[in-house]
Amino acid sequence: MTLSCCGLGVATARAIAIGPAFLLDRSPLAIAPRSVDPVEVVAELQRLEEALSAAQGALRSVRGQVPRSTPVKVTEFIDSHLLMLEDAALVEPARALIREQFFSAEWALEHHRMSLVKVFEEMEDPYLRSRRDDVDHVVQHILSFLLGGRISDADEEADLSDCVVIAHDISPADTVVLRHRGVAAFVTEYGGPMSHTAILARSLNIPAVMGVRNVTSYFKQGETVVVDGEAGIVLADVDAGILEHYRKRMRVLEKRRSHLQRLVGEPSISADGISVSLLANLELPEDTLAARANGAAGVGLYRTEFLYMNRENLPDEDEHLAAYLEVIRGLRGIPVTIRTLDLGVDKQVDGNPASCPPVCNPALGLRAIRLCLKEPELFRPQLRAILRASACGPVRLMIPMLSSMQELGSVLTLIEQVREELESEGLAFDPDMPIGGMIEVPAAALSARAFARRLDFLSIGTNDLIQYTLAIDRIDDTVSYLYDPLHPAILRLIRMTIEAGQARGIPVSMCGEMAGNPRCVPLLLGLGLRELSMQPGSLLEIKEIVRGSHIADLERATRDLFVRMDELEPDQLAKAIKHICF
Ligand code: PEP
Ligand code: MG
Repeated sequence: MTLSCCGLGVATARAIAIGPAFLLDRSPLAIAPRSVDPVEVVAELQRLEEALSAAQGALRSVRGQVPRSTPVKVTEFIDSHLLMLEDAALVEPARALIREQFFSAEWALEHHRMSLVKVFEEMEDPYLRSRRDDVDHVVQHILSFLLGGRISDADEEADLSDCVVIAHDISPADTVVLRHRGVAAFVTEYGGPMSHTAILARSLNIPAVMGVRNVTSYFKQGETVVVDGEAGIVLADVDAGILEHYRKRMRVLEKRRSHLQRLVGEPSISADGISVSLLANLELPEDTLAARANGAAGVGLYRTEFLYMNRENLPDEDEHLAAYLEVIRGLRGIPVTIRTLDLGVDKQVDGNPASCPPVCNPALGLRAIRLCLKEPELFRPQLRAILRASACGPVRLMIPMLSSMQELGSVLTLIEQVREELESEGLAFDPDMPIGGMIEVPAAALSARAFARRLDFLSIGTNDLIQYTLAIDRIDDTVSYLYDPLHPAILRLIRMTIEAGQARGIPVSMCGEMAGNPRCVPLLLGLGLRELSMQPGSLLEIKEIVRGSHIADLERATRDLFVRMDELEPDQLAKAIKHICF
């Protein structure tokens, strides 16, 4: 009988993989509380040091094996783990537990690991929360040496080529090694689509499904497993018919990829001659490569949070500037929209001066522009660097999470001060650099006309707009079924924002996930959006939709939908939307 489990899919260009299961022993190490005699303290400390240096050596050796062709992102992940391992502060609390409370070395380290993990788990932001994985992997790596190198050695000799690796957890370093050993896909019990491992899987083109409860107990070594990274489904013990169905889908997807590739150089113009600008979202400077390879007309969202991660101090102006110049160089003349920092109480990083007590609703707390205005020393270097970068290429500055005109006024005053400072220092900047705001809070959408008066462009951040409008925590699995981009309230707020931009003659774009969702794009075009920013991997699929659309027809149908929206029952509304979108 077919066995199926679901998790969080990590879809890559290759969405499906079929191969024999390989169960990898990556279960967390069970460490029992144990004390030592005071006379053993020195020896325990020595054991800890030895494990630490063995762990460092092993990871350096993984780093040394990474081929030159490996994406920079990958080596950066390993480097960041190495940096953590080399950071004296990582194990210092464990040393103190051995010295002062006579814990055994492994129990001291495990105790410290659990408290670190707790801190990360309390973070609301999915990306930062996923940094928990890094801390966890690094400390477990040391633990494995205290316990005799269990994690690293076990499967060294096994042939993993074309296998589907099934594990409790896979670290970024493991991901690189697994890739070199030719794995087809992986499935894990732990982790989510925002974790480093998931980001790596995407960049290495390995489909994966993560977060499958008890996954290691479901599958048998060697049995054929189907991984559908798009749907987040794993199947085993499938009959010949199902297997053939997936093989056929793989062939279809492959054909489709090469078909889409032909669109790279083609213009993004609808069948009735309307131009739609398709832009890329970037996380890291090196993502510019993927943006250009997929024919992006520019970058509609460059998230700068990565600059603040895996470090203890804050990036200074020069570091900001270097990153922005790297992006400008990588984009070869196409424009970039740099979003100012979107960190908050929920997204603490080392070195963030706003160390506030935990709050009940972090998503509603001191986040993004609120934090930046409260902590100008965090914000000012970034503003200076963005302005300075604007002298070297087409740059737009974008402010996240605006909720009031007072807030916008304060930001614009600060930008003006920074401009005067740069001028008095003789530093170049573009005085006409466009300044835009993200519409991510219902209050901002409802006040979009006022915002449009003072801004050069608006960009709709649907990931947060949906969260705040529908009162759904965007990372809470239990309410994710309510997360509906096509909810009438969302459509109204989007329309209000677009109309506000049109009334002032300023561009309105969308940079939330909805912009790259093929199911939503016809409706967005019908609503009047002409700028969509998305993950580079979605650009060609959306271009195909644009090129096949009659936008005038979509506009007519969308207007009609809005007239009838309140009269329709939910199923009729769904049908009417489907009529436009499919
Ligand atoms: C959004 O909220 O839609 C957005 C693009 O910002 P982020 O996902 O970074 O919060
Ligand atoms: Mg947002």
